[in-house]
Amino acid sequence: MNNQPLDSTADKNDFIRTIIRDDLASGKHDSIVTRFPPEPNGYLHIGHVKSICLNFGVAKEFAGVCNLRFDDTNPTAEKQDFVDGIKQDVQWLGFEWAGDVRYASGYFDQLYQWAVQLIEQGDAYVDFQTPDEIRENRGGFGKPSVASPQRNATIAENLARFDDMKNGKYKEGEAVLRAKIDMNHANMNMRDPVIYRVMHAHHHQTGDKWCIYPMYDYAHPLSDAIEGITHSLCTLEFEDHRPFYDWVIDKVGFDKPPHQYEFSRLNIDHTLTSKRKLKRLVDMGVVSGWDDPRMPTVAGMRRRGYTPEGLRDFCERIGITKSDGLVDHRMLEFSVRKSLEDSTARGMAVLRPLKVVITNFDEAVAKFATLKNEKTVAEFDGEVLWLTQPKHPHLDMGNRRIPFTKTIYIDQTDFEIEPPAGYKRLSPQNPEIRLRNSYVLKVDEYKTDDNGQVVELIATIDEKTLGNNPEGRKVKGVIHWVSASHGVPATVRLYEHLLLEDDEIADNPPVDDTLDADAAWIYQHLNPNSLTVCQAVVEPDLATAAAGERFQFERESYFIADTVEHSDSSPVFNQIVGLKDSFKPE
Ligand code: ATP
Ligand code: MG
Repeated sequence: MNNQPLDSTADKNDFIRTIIRDDLASGKHDSIVTRFPPEPNGYLHIGHVKSICLNFGVAKEFAGVCNLRFDDTNPTAEKQDFVDGIKQDVQWLGFEWAGDVRYASGYFDQLYQWAVQLIEQGDAYVDFQTPDEIRENRGGFGKPSVASPQRNATIAENLARFDDMKNGKYKEGEAVLRAKIDMNHANMNMRDPVIYRVMHAHHHQTGDKWCIYPMYDYAHPLSDAIEGITHSLCTLEFEDHRPFYDWVIDKVGFDKPPHQYEFSRLNIDHTLTSKRKLKRLVDMGVVSGWDDPRMPTVAGMRRRGYTPEGLRDFCERIGITKSDGLVDHRMLEFSVRKSLEDSTARGMAVLRPLKVVITNFDEAVAKFATLKNEKTVAEFDGEVLWLTQPKHPHLDMGNRRIPFTKTIYIDQTDFEIEPPAGYKRLSPQNPEIRLRNSYVLKVDEYKTDDNGQVVELIATIDEKTLGNNPEGRKVKGVIHWVSASHGVPATVRLYEHLLLEDDEIADNPPVDDTLDADAAWIYQHLNPNSLTVCQAVVEPDLATAAAGERFQFERESYFIADTVEHSDSSPVFNQIVGLKDSFKPE
């Protein structure tokens, strides 16, 4: 798999790669081991893609390895389905994890032994305070902390109590194991954090074996240490957790402890990068699922037609830093578009069909045989003129056969009775235009309905213009078209952002004030135009596309045959990204 960016850049010099280079040069590490540690409580999103590209990317660049480890310490929020989805996403992005998939739950026996070790060292105790009391007594914001009544219990008492926890003697919330550090520490995370809790829950990996589960902050550093992770890369919000990360590794004792480094999260305008809120979108039914093409999930972006190459290129471009910022969503579209430019076949699809009857079709086309030239290959079967055209203008992707018939469709927006200034397409004042891959067409008459809407054009073609310039005049403009009798009806979905920015929500209706904060925020920010469904007509070659095949619909956008709903008899295409944008990355 080619993991190079489209524009292969020189050596990347972000601070993480600098640290790794130095550690290898100084001999601190002989080789590097990283990991990507998702919690299987949802599907991956574009933010995770940044972390995946970093962790797997540096491992590959420095000839090391990267593990995929599920941080599955919270069984009630997690599901096998998410485990499977995340594995598929990582592979689709083009990365391979070292050996088998790993699970923090795979280390539960060891983590339990180390908890016992901490108790034996006098570094942990069982606390019977309620969760509220624990929170309250932690102090902070000027309020002094209060030590737990159990803080100074004997080692023997704590061992017995922890054993009782493990054996199911306590209900949830009745007992926890806490690290014994410093109840007055300036960093709240060091004020005797909870490291084990009671949870009578079935676990997707360990079944009903455990009724106590380690906390993420305890399991994570130790899982890193077990796997010999050299550089544990995570986002900045974990910076305040690093002292505990180091504390627990030190107390358990390792010769070669892992080191945690933090980088900034990815934030993109118009885009949610919070699993919690994405899950709400799904649960509220605002989208069709985690793989709705408007979702910034890997599953959604895959169904939308984004490419792994495009996503990796995007991650290269945004780079890795320690400062939070907001990335322009057009940067992502730029990378995706770039990855499609030289890989997608062309096709014609009319999204808003307007019928055109070519009155001189039979006479004009009957003469085509004598007018054949090198640029145009065509065959007339008595009814249809079959035009043979390459699928791509300069790549060798084979040919397609396009039926040209007496009645065709063009796009409604390509004919205006009263064209705006600068309009280059058809109008009563400018009745001639080139039909892409075909003849020059002249509109002789138009028909309107009771509302004044144009419903049909009556036209003629210039029989000498198949593959030739018209004689004695210049015809400006080229439009796409599809045969009315041989084109195939298709559902074409156009997308805008799912969410609006704060300064764009003024016109949205007010939100019901009984909603909780997340739901209210979501309803307030929904873009009413995020999805437009067109009843389009496509050339036959597009209808027979395989699900997942990508195309450039000429003059429209890039599209993908939907992987879930597309079939030959009922084609469905999703818009990937527009053909151009004035946005240029620096
Ligand atoms: P969310 O906040 O969306 O729930 P999370 O951090 O809880 O995400 P995890 O499954 O715990 O999700 O994350 C796995 C890894 O992905 C972590 O190392 C985390 O730091 C990283 N990650 C998550 N969100 C982003 C983001 N927006 N940008 C970069 N890395 C991220
Ligand atoms: Mg998390």
